[in-house]
Amino acid sequence: MAEAGINEAQNSPAPEAQQTTDGFHLVIDALKLNDIDTIFGLVGIPITDLARLAQAEGMRFIGFRHEQNAGNAAAVAGYMTKKPGICLTVSAPGFLNGLTALANATTNCFPMILISGSSEREIVDLQQGDYEEMDQLNAAKPYAKAAYRVLHAEDIGIGVARAIRAAVSGRPGGVYLDLPAKLLAQTIDAVKGQQSLVKVVDAAPRQIPAPEAVKRALDVLRNAKRPLILLGKGAAYAQADASIRALVEKSGIPYLPMSMAKGLLPDTHAQSASAARSFVLAESDAVLLVGARLNWLLSHGKGKTWGAPVAKQFVQIDIAPTEIDSNVAIEAPLIGDIGSCVEALLEGIGDDFPQPPAGWLDAVAQRKSKNQEKMAATLDKNPTPMNFHSALRAIRDVLKTRPDINVVNEGANTLDYARSIIDMYQPRKRFDSGTWGIMGIGMGFAIGAAVTSGTQVVAIEGDSAFGFSGMELETICRYDLPVCTIVFNNNGVYRGTDVNPTGGADVAPTVFVKNARYDRMMEAFGGVGHHATTPEELTAALLEAIASGKPTLINAVIDEAAGTESGRLTNLNPQSAAMKK
Ligand code: ADP
Repeated sequence: MAEAGINEAQNSPAPEAQQTTDGFHLVIDALKLNDIDTIFGLVGIPITDLARLAQAEGMRFIGFRHEQNAGNAAAVAGYMTKKPGICLTVSAPGFLNGLTALANATTNCFPMILISGSSEREIVDLQQGDYEEMDQLNAAKPYAKAAYRVLHAEDIGIGVARAIRAAVSGRPGGVYLDLPAKLLAQTIDAVKGQQSLVKVVDAAPRQIPAPEAVKRALDVLRNAKRPLILLGKGAAYAQADASIRALVEKSGIPYLPMSMAKGLLPDTHAQSASAARSFVLAESDAVLLVGARLNWLLSHGKGKTWGAPVAKQFVQIDIAPTEIDSNVAIEAPLIGDIGSCVEALLEGIGDDFPQPPAGWLDAVAQRKSKNQEKMAATLDKNPTPMNFHSALRAIRDVLKTRPDINVVNEGANTLDYARSIIDMYQPRKRFDSGTWGIMGIGMGFAIGAAVTSGTQVVAIEGDSAFGFSGMELETICRYDLPVCTIVFNNNGVYRGTDVNPTGGADVAPTVFVKNARYDRMMEAFGGVGHHATTPEELTAALLEAIASGKPTLINAVIDEAAGTESGRLTNLNPQSAAMKK
């Protein structure tokens, strides 16, 4: 199948000369027409030629070692650019490997299109046993915002257009596009083919909020005694940075960024209440949510975290009307795109708009400095071996000097501590486990961010989290990407000290090989490896990595007893009565 296509793509005259075109060319033409210039994927039957042709036609094809990582790279590219990131996979197993990334993109509201080749429909539908047989369209549906299959070459233009529009309009998400092998080889008249392509006009239209909704929102904020603004990654995605900053500063309201909204305003901003997070969540009386959902990451908007039983009023800006009242009653929903909603609020905030009461601002400031002092004392300690805090202090101090650097972060303790210790200064520079708390996004996100931005990435990885995508070090070296991966190596999941209670030969479920040298994995592919056992060594290695822009891995040795079970999510672990004893 694929071999016939190769000959067609490489050896025969251009289809225009023959006055015919084929499915391969039409897919590439449709993507290019819509300004999509990069594909993340992994080749094989039946899409190898599609990748070859994409490259031959001037698109960038970034080949991975596992489809999940390619999908994660595509998703992060979508988040950074507001254009759908494209992931290309082979049929059944490759498709399923990509499906986790598609589901993660949908969950996180990142625009992405998973394009997979698929086997012969007739055989699949009669379950006659084809090579990589699977009903991929139906498998994708529950995990995607939309799913389409194209059967005729003249419908490729419409199929790609529908996929693009579904991915980026309204609440962004993951879209599946099924391309059967037969479709790719189909030929049609070249002129007819060109005419069938669609350039999507206004793919993500502005959605202007209703004036009465704006008034309702302003009334809640005007009457608040202890207001708070909560910025989510929807706010970062919206690329309305200047308006959001103006709203925060003009209103004078303290704000909290969710992890991927960090840097939308610099974390060092005077109005940031991050260091007083628990205090402001509990004590505020009115909260403006900007592109943030009241899901588990925000304790569903209720309970002790939110100061129950004291009632709280919420204003929620979101593009998805059904997000409203998902967990608690929302006093003032503001439905529209964040840019338009924030601008409408700004227009309503005249010079007479009351600043938050001084008592509230003082209380926040006091709590902030108390917590910051406590944290500074913890960070200043220099235990041997390093712990999470001393290692992160070293990284924080280097990254402070390079606010343009993209930061990828996953793990349990590594994620929890880095999120609060590493300051961000610019929008859309932090990429992490997000809405699902997923592990395994590390190298995919790092490659996606490096390819999309062309600038340095630092991936701060727990040793367990790194394992899910570690083989992509080869990809990083192959494309010579400026990615420095720092593995927080404490010999296990959570920590490395658990023992097998039976005394048997197998180690405990959470334990890895002791003293593994992840830096040597990097060296195997021609990258630079460092082994760091002190904050000073870590600083030196990171500075060298950033200065060189070379693929680098720093094996940061952390005290194997330092981690806590499940990081800060210990409460989510059901425990057996036997284990509690
Ligand atoms: P976080 O995890 O940072 O709290 P979430 O992913 O929970 O953020 O929330 C993001 C929200 O932003 C989603 O409910 C989504 O519908 C919304 N959103 C995404 N893009 C836009 C946009 N351009 N305008 C308005 N809302 C948006």
